[in-house]
Amino acid sequence: MLYPASFGDNPLYPKDTDFRVIRKDDTNGFGVISLRSFKRGEIVAAMAGEVVTDIRQHTLQIDDESHLHDTHFSGYFLHSCSPNISLDMRNMLITAVEDIPANSYLYMDYAETEQVLFKQFACACGSESCRGWITGNQEIHPGFVQEAMMRGPDAA
Ligand SMILES: [Zn+2]
Repeated sequence: MLYPASFGDNPLYPKDTDFRVIRKDDTNGFGVISLRSFKRGEIVAAMAGEVVTDIRQHTLQIDDESHLHDTHFSGYFLHSCSPNISLDMRNMLITAVEDIPANSYLYMDYAETEQVLFKQFACACGSESCRGWITGNQEIHPGFVQEAMMRGPDAA
């Protein structure tokens, strides 16, 4: 397990035989690689961590007041404007939104969960739908606001 034993033994917690948190490069910092493949729609893992009230590095927003501080796994997902995973922060579940081959980085869209980012940044994900400048979904950015409003922080 990537999570300490004190988190419990949820069988959906990420196994250290399936995932690696590694330093990708100086630009991106750390990322999470999946050593195994997933089919689109498959549950990738369950998340856990400390629930905090402030935005930090390695937090993911749960709702208006709370954030998951996960320094073992989900806090290290890289951003892509064409993500291969989707995060359900209500149920703490990660789902593959496309087929993921083994040895791929897991990419989320930070605007899926975050209203405001710890730090906005220029994106170089290479996706055709790359937004260029990445903000939270409640932060004003020309050309992005409309899309974020359509999707919402918890579109479920
Ligand atoms: Zn992008």
